[in-house]
Amino acid sequence: MRIGFGYDSHVFESGRPLVLGGVLIPDCDGLKAHSDGDVLIHAVIDALYGAAAMGDIGSHFPDTDGKWKDADSALMLKSAMYDIRGAGYAVENLDVTVVCERPRLRPFADLIRSRLSDVMGVGLGRISVKGKSNEKMDDVGAGKGIVVHAAVLLKESGAQKSSALA
Ligand code: MG
Repeated sequence: MRIGFGYDSHVFESGRPLVLGGVLIPDCDGLKAHSDGDVLIHAVIDALYGAAAMGDIGSHFPDTDGKWKDADSALMLKSAMYDIRGAGYAVENLDVTVVCERPRLRPFADLIRSRLSDVMGVGLGRISVKGKSNEKMDDVGAGKGIVVHAAVLLKESGAQKSSALA
């Protein structure tokens, strides 16, 4: 078993679509970023690579590389999963906390879980997505951006196959 923790934050930028966990969220500004700004997926990718001691998102998808300009972060997550599986690991579970004043996450949480499940090839019952406000504190509380924390547990993939949760 190996635990990983990922964190990411992005500020809002008007005129861009908001994508969280691969899901387009309507009626809200998007996030400033080199890629599509999917702050949720970025935190998940860092948690995955962290758990496997395989570096971080920046080392695998450098923002100096034009290839990742406005890139679909779901493709980056697919690539990260390929690396994790290639290293002999499977995801036991993933727990994500999104901190922001807007949008309200709860109406989209199950949609995001489904999308992550599809993209990662991990059972829905292994994926949790939760939303929190920052109770108006600090810049996140002032609505300047979105912060995401992600924790992931990996196990050697041989054991994964026998699990009832798969
Ligand atoms: Mg990011």
